[in-house]
Amino acid sequence: MQSSEELQYAIVSAVYARGYDAGDAPRQLVKMLEEIAELSEAFDVEAPRLEKQAGCLYCNVGAMGEEARELFDSKEDCGFVRDANAAIHELKDMMVTVCCLAHALGVDDILAEAATKAAQDLKRGRRGENEHS
Ligand SMILES: [Mg+2]
Repeated sequence: MQSSEELQYAIVSAVYARGYDAGDAPRQLVKMLEEIAELSEAFDVEAPRLEKQAGCLYCNVGAMGEEARELFDSKEDCGFVRDANAAIHELKDMMVTVCCLAHALGVDDILAEAATKAAQDLKRGRRGENEHS
């Protein structure tokens, strides 16, 4: 069984091998915004109690995702890290949420599943360039 450090290394290595700069933190944040938009598409926010609040909460997510996808795929600068310690702190909060969401969806080892997904995505190459599937 791989440690969480080994799994993170495998994921980062696969992203580099696919042709993306996994070390560009601002661009990875943009990618995260795109993925949050995609994730939100899997949820139904039409429940009566949630319609007003969640409807508003999610109303700009689609546009955010489209903008994030366009920026991520561009050669444009995605900004810079203003406070690395604050970013790491919030990233830990995000990972807590990711683990809880995985648990809620019945996924026992999200890091291992992410490593498998990253390895599978290798054959796709960069989106829009040498993408094979
Ligand atoms: Mg996605």
